[in-house]
Amino acid sequence: MNQATEARSEETLDPQDWEAMRALGHRILDDAMDYLETLRDRPVWEHAPPQVKAHFAGPPPPGPESPDEVYREYLECILPYQLGNSHPRFWGWVAGSGTVMGMFAELLAASTDAVSGAFSYVSNNYVEFQIVDWCKTLLRYPPTATGLLTSGCSASNLIALAVARNALAGFDVRSRGMTNAPQQMTLYCSEEAHSSIQKAVELLGFGDDALRRIPVNESMQIDLAALKAAIKSDRADGFRPVCIVGCAGTTSTAAIDDLNALADICAEEGCWFHVDGACGAWTAIAPKYNHLVAGMERADSLAFDLHKWMYLQYPIGCVLVRNADEHRRAFSLTPTYLAHGEGEHGLTGIDVPWLSDYGFELSRGFHALKAWMTIKEHGTERYGRIIEQNIDQAHYLAGLVTAAPELELALPVSLNIVNFRYVRPGMSDAALDRLNKRIETELQEQGTVVVSTVTLRGRNYLHAGIANHRSRRDDFDLLVREVIRIGDGLA
Ligand SMILES: *Cc1c(COP(=O)(O)O)cnc(C)c1O
Repeated sequence: MNQATEARSEETLDPQDWEAMRALGHRILDDAMDYLETLRDRPVWEHAPPQVKAHFAGPPPPGPESPDEVYREYLECILPYQLGNSHPRFWGWVAGSGTVMGMFAELLAASTDAVSGAFSYVSNNYVEFQIVDWCKTLLRYPPTATGLLTSGCSASNLIALAVARNALAGFDVRSRGMTNAPQQMTLYCSEEAHSSIQKAVELLGFGDDALRRIPVNESMQIDLAALKAAIKSDRADGFRPVCIVGCAGTTSTAAIDDLNALADICAEEGCWFHVDGACGAWTAIAPKYNHLVAGMERADSLAFDLHKWMYLQYPIGCVLVRNADEHRRAFSLTPTYLAHGEGEHGLTGIDVPWLSDYGFELSRGFHALKAWMTIKEHGTERYGRIIEQNIDQAHYLAGLVTAAPELELALPVSLNIVNFRYVRPGMSDAALDRLNKRIETELQEQGTVVVSTVTLRGRNYLHAGIANHRSRRDDFDLLVREVIRIGDGLA
């Protein structure tokens, strides 16, 4: 074989025809911009029909397909059947809506196959540290705290509770393991806390039995007297209370626990104070409402998302830990092949700490770029106004519900979530539960709006969680009109 033949036989995944691939890239970007600009004119959600599911069966392709053909399949079988959370009238569960600059940033990060985790003299690290610093400033958290961007609040809760466990176990958990714990440790949260807290507790070896679910008061906040009583009785029974998890915005009702009171109890009891502020933490930047999360800045660790409120593309969350040493001690581990901190130069110099010392993952995507570009594009003041606008919209929707005799509000609005139901005199609660579930499904199938349902005090309610920068007041007028129209038709 001569040299030329040998060179030709080596392959790459780069385009064979760069010009054609460039043209496809331009088309993809134009299509994506058209999609976002005209979102409002399309249904929020479309049911993926059986032939779409069938389309995704079959073996991996042994040979190449044309890039245009692959993209055509995306347009036909994937694009139309999204969750719909970028649409102005999507308020199911609590989901973010994405930004145009965030989309560009994801493309740019992918263009260099950017990785964040290890390495010192890499600009990506400085960007991530700056985003973590901005989060500390905006949430009024101490500047000496350490932090990490994560794939979401589930990961943030897991990291925070791992630090809490290791700091308060009273023995070296990393070397001895949980089976050698001298006392069973216990943790406390309200019964409205998110399932990711339970997952973290299970994964960290506490066992779900160690998670004490404390009842809530009328406003769905943790009952402080019941919490204190539970801690007291656990101590009397030989348990070791280590951590209280406060909620800054629960998933069902956006209830915010009395965070200052929880911080006081943690100080008295020598417990770690963790706050799950997945969505609600960002209330701190809404001028009219920031008092609602007072006390959050006293947490030993704070977990939150930037892909719910803050509206950035999935995935991006963050965890902050007040005590930098404890944070690092929980995760730092340097095998020889990742040795760093020697000298002033090269990829392994010492300018910045390695992010992999602050979490369980080594390689991570460059999540920070979309945050950096989008926050710079809009500024934090506009962000604060839009978060405030979402809370105002929740109050507006609650006002419409209260004014309509066919509708009933589950409880006063505390933040950005409105729970309500269609009611009709003479119908039993069980029948109303079924009816409201059917209204939810009907709305989704029609594609006019998407809301979800939650069970509160045993009853089904429609649930509008508003973390959407595209929603307008008339969208909520439409929601109320449609719920009443569909409810009347079905009842
Ligand atoms: C959504 C949510 C979580 C989990 O966050 P992910 O980003 O979905 O992992 C945790 N806690 C609360 C209160 C949430 O609403």
